[in-house]
Amino acid sequence: MIPTHIEHIGIAVKDLEASIKYYEDTLGMKCYAIEEVKDQKVKTAFFKVGQTKIELLESTDPSGPIGKFIEKKGEGMHHMAFAVNNIEEKLQTVKERGVRLINETPRKGAEGLQIAFLHPKSTNGVLTELCEKKEEQ
Ligand code: ZN
Repeated sequence: MIPTHIEHIGIAVKDLEASIKYYEDTLGMKCYAIEEVKDQKVKTAFFKVGQTKIELLESTDPSGPIGKFIEKKGEGMHHMAFAVNNIEEKLQTVKERGVRLINETPRKGAEGLQIAFLHPKSTNGVLTELCEKKEEQ
């Protein structure tokens, strides 16, 4: 089972407002949603490019994953997310092939997606997210 498309690319930013301005005023894209994901300690802003989204991530707490990322590496591309049709099955498959999982079971991400992260040590340094849109949510 192959991913259907790149669902989104996550970019860690220090200042969400200023970054939204760049994407809107300079690149001409339109922010269509801003959402806080409390258990990830982030505020997110979404843009669409075709069926792929750009997800800007601003940390709401220095101890959260984006806060730590920016502290260590500065702003920049944080992760890439593939849309899959059966996230539980896909997680099982990659695990069987030796990929280290950050999330053993899917959890709830922004936009009501079920998401799970694969460890960058197993994925050529790219923090990789699998996600699935579940209709019943
Ligand atoms: Zn994401």
